[in-house]
Amino acid sequence: METLLRFKCFKIGTISILFMIFIGSVHQVFAEQKKKCSYNTWTWNTFEKRSEKHRRVIKSYDEITDIEIDKSSGCTVCEEDQVWIKLNGLTKVRVCQIYKKPIEEVLKNIIASGFPIIEITAYRVGKSKGPLDEHGYRTLFSNHSFGTAIDINRSRNGLYKNCLTFGSHCKLALGGTWDPSQLGSITNDSIVVKSFNLINWNWGGQIKGRQKDFMHFSPSGY
Ligand SMILES: [Zn+2]
Repeated sequence: METLLRFKCFKIGTISILFMIFIGSVHQVFAEQKKKCSYNTWTWNTFEKRSEKHRRVIKSYDEITDIEIDKSSGCTVCEEDQVWIKLNGLTKVRVCQIYKKPIEEVLKNIIASGFPIIEITAYRVGKSKGPLDEHGYRTLFSNHSFGTAIDINRSRNGLYKNCLTFGSHCKLALGGTWDPSQLGSITNDSIVVKSFNLINWNWGGQIKGRQKDFMHFSPSGY
């Protein structure tokens, strides 16, 4: 009888230890997953006018550098900090997790209004901003890199340079011609601008300076 009891205690003890080891390793796996930061990226070369240095970055979350974090939102270039937005009839896009709910509301609002969203892009990592290095490469990440910017209907809302105010002197640099009379082009009084303004995001068509980015929305508009 005593032997049987001792055997049972031994068995329960062994099972408990194995269970604790299992929980420990699950915990460790999650901790390690959380610590990773991975993303695909490229760097814009202003001399060649093309994206170069395409590469995949995988590093520990602890090794994230200053330029890989957007200071105002806390969003990073890491895929691990991005979440998908999937709405009926719309191409799925990724945004920084803190903007998932508000951006979903904005897009639902636009869809309900009947304004056609033909193209949409959000998170995509690339150095296309900031000062140039000696080889003509940009040195800072765009807002899209942090999942804090959205482009709508690129083919009807181009990015123009030399464009302090819009006119025939403006030079189309990316996307298609912006024509306020065309379906899918965005204007000041458009439901698209109003919906984004409700969550304090601004339109690239209203930014100051020599650039007008009619497809683009972000907290700053840049
Ligand atoms: Zn954009």
